[in-house]
Amino acid sequence: MGLLRPNIIALAPYSTARDEFDGTVDISCWIDANESPYNNGINRYPDPHHRVLKKKISEIKGVECANIFLGNGSDEAIDILYRIFCRPGVDNAVAIAPTYGMYEVAANINDVEYRSVMLEPDFSLPVGKILNACDANTKLLWICSPNNPTGNAFPISEIKKIADSFRGIMVVDEAYVDFSSCGSFLPYLKEHPNVVLLQTMSKARGMAALRVGMAFAHPNIINCMNNVKYPYNINTLSQQKALETLCSDDYEEHLKEVLKLRSYLENALKKLPCVKKVWPSNANFLLVQVDDADTVYQLLKDHGILVRNRNTTPGCRGCLRITVGTPQETQTVITTLANITNTSH
Ligand SMILES: *Cc1c(COP(=O)(O)O)cnc(C)c1O
Repeated sequence: MGLLRPNIIALAPYSTARDEFDGTVDISCWIDANESPYNNGINRYPDPHHRVLKKKISEIKGVECANIFLGNGSDEAIDILYRIFCRPGVDNAVAIAPTYGMYEVAANINDVEYRSVMLEPDFSLPVGKILNACDANTKLLWICSPNNPTGNAFPISEIKKIADSFRGIMVVDEAYVDFSSCGSFLPYLKEHPNVVLLQTMSKARGMAALRVGMAFAHPNIINCMNNVKYPYNINTLSQQKALETLCSDDYEEHLKEVLKLRSYLENALKKLPCVKKVWPSNANFLLVQVDDADTVYQLLKDHGILVRNRNTTPGCRGCLRITVGTPQETQTVITTLANITNTSH
């Protein structure tokens, strides 16, 4: 625990109205929290410990509740990790590039130096360069796998190698792991107490609007994250709806469909003259290199199709990121790109 900020180690966390109550007697008068007594389904404060939702996640993931943190999206977990490990103006974080933009934004907000290490041209991990970028003040190392926006997953063996050699906290962001054929780091978490794993309800689980993100880690880290989060960080409606959605069985079927459509989209795009390269993907999107990314992006937009333009992202010159949507959306983007190609030649 030598990595934590001293103020976080010393922190006396806020104690909510019901934290001291152990649930052993039947309470008929809930007059401890200054709530309105009129029951409209939302007049009571949310469960700050997310007990019911966490138990369900614990069953699905095969991980004990003590190893699970739930946040207002993964973005909350990202911010909290900076706040518990990085002394502003002193410590630094290392990350691959290109990658998810929030790691850098959250570093800047927290006044933490952010060091980027470019992936190799084929988007593989430059393990040596990553470790060389770290020094005694490097507290966090961000590895997004499958990576956004490149779509590739890194071999578990390489992630382990970095975790073993790095003396800080390695965060593996697995937002897209459901779509990956490379597997999760979750089974190896116990052997690596310096790894924090991020997953989310926002992608394959179909709950982006609820804002529920998960972190899996050693209980000491989870405790600190819980002490720092806002007590009521996930509202009651989101906790209830997430539980309900996890209990329904759309997930497997939708996942299969997205994977089928991903390979259909990939093959169709590869046949288009304006497409130079389609990167193989372990996520629910494809990184596509085209002849003139800004023009293609604009033309698609003129046709009512919004993709992500990554043309100015270092390492992604000429690239658009296209999400696997519905069968109809997938067909529309293919047809439109085919027409764009025809009319511009
Ligand atoms: C979409 C995404 C997330 C999810 O963020 P939430 O705040 O949970 O919606 C996390 N990491 C990466 C790399 C993503 O692309």
